[in-house]
Amino acid sequence: MRITKRLTIVALCSIAPSIAIGYAQQYDILLRGGRVIDPANGIDARRDVAVSDGRIVSIQADIPAAQARKVVDVSGLYVVPGLVDLHAHVFGYEGSLVPDETALPAGTTTIVDAGGSGWRTFDEFHRTVMAHSRTRVLALINIVGKGMVGEPYESDVADMDPARTAETILHNRDAIVGIKTAHFAKPGWDAIDRAVEAGRRASVPVMVDDKIFTNAGRTTKEELLEHLRPGDIHTHMYNDRQIELIDRFTGKVQPWMIEARRRGVLFDVGHGGGSFLWPVATRAVAQGFVPDTISTDLHQGSRDIQQSNMPNVMSKMMLLGMNFADVLVRSTVNPAKEIGRYPELGTLGVGRVADIAVLEEQSGVFAFKDSWPAKRLGTKRLECVLTIRNGKIVYERGAVPARGGDTAIYDLLLKHARIGDRGDEVDIAISGNRIVRIGRGLKAAHARVVAEAEGYTVMPATAAEGVAADLTVLDTGRAIMTIRNGKIVTDDEGLTISDATRAGPYSNFK
Ligand SMILES: [Zn+2]
Repeated sequence: MRITKRLTIVALCSIAPSIAIGYAQQYDILLRGGRVIDPANGIDARRDVAVSDGRIVSIQADIPAAQARKVVDVSGLYVVPGLVDLHAHVFGYEGSLVPDETALPAGTTTIVDAGGSGWRTFDEFHRTVMAHSRTRVLALINIVGKGMVGEPYESDVADMDPARTAETILHNRDAIVGIKTAHFAKPGWDAIDRAVEAGRRASVPVMVDDKIFTNAGRTTKEELLEHLRPGDIHTHMYNDRQIELIDRFTGKVQPWMIEARRRGVLFDVGHGGGSFLWPVATRAVAQGFVPDTISTDLHQGSRDIQQSNMPNVMSKMMLLGMNFADVLVRSTVNPAKEIGRYPELGTLGVGRVADIAVLEEQSGVFAFKDSWPAKRLGTKRLECVLTIRNGKIVYERGAVPARGGDTAIYDLLLKHARIGDRGDEVDIAISGNRIVRIGRGLKAAHARVVAEAEGYTVMPATAAEGVAADLTVLDTGRAIMTIRNGKIVTDDEGLTISDATRAGPYSNFK
């Protein structure tokens, strides 16, 4: 009897501490030590961020690690609101992408499909994509009832019905945030005016993508000053196929673009495969004509060639001289405001939904491609490290799926190089400051940075596995890239083109 009693007491004692710990672990996730930047609340400081039940529940200078079930050390990284991509393609359009594969590894927690569906196809979009995505997917529905399905449908004025479009929006306020008109190939203003009419009926903005494929006799000046309303959005602002943002003779931003901005028309990047040109963007930003919103226009083509996800486009704007805070506000707060979802989205306020991106600002030599595609080299690059959507970790860098049994992660991979006068092309993998592997078919997706060295010679000829990674890439005797201690220190030709921790989909390489 006595013994039993003692055992009971011992058992109680051993339970007690674990109850105490369980009680203390009040948070699901704790991001510790990061630089929290939340433009909406004027925060730019080292803070810890606690998340529970899908919400941000505490932001403090120091939250003890013991209070959370999962603690992530994010020191040295930016902790920012989940990015809001105002212009991307995840339905209808032939180059559409899967939102969770595209958005989440980029820190994009909200993606707005720009015109893939119309009032006839919105239900299908909702059923097949929106309802199944971990990414928050919202829609600008096309003024064309059938959506963005190519010609002749996109120029079929008879299928542009403002009343049905507005009705569909009003029945789906939770998911539809505006209207898109694009690719209208006929003369006249029917598509734009009908989109604006639908926007007026439903009190939502219209995004216009005009004259990418055809001029059709319209001028952007007339569009911006006479047809669009304040709050409507002109996307592809740095596209020069319209030959209009920058005056060809003076190099100045057209005065009526500035006038349009003054009257409240909004300007969106919409990078895509055809709408971001270095000469145009450079001149515009130098004159202060920066975007209201930074967006990707991501589809299969722009993903594969320009790799223009949100961190990529943000990095490009930083290369043009904008600072991180300026770029961030245009990738979070501004798009959320434009679609009427602020402050529900775009901030890290306590009590808000826990949509969070953790970004790293990397230093090195990086090549960024525009839509021609011309490369420009930069020394800074943003990369997503961690994404939290609705309080759950939905992406973590480094979790590169194993393929073909080769699971090594390389810091740098030179593809298709010839070493010295050896005849065959090989891939050279570098980790830290050493060459760790020389072989064929090393996976680009397993390297953090990839450089294409096809047709070039790598010296010294003694390069081998295990030796220090001090290499020079030569183009018929001329040094075009140097690597010292495993790091790229010069890259005159922009050989560095792939960032492969975002794995296969973002790589140009097989
Ligand atoms: Zn687009």
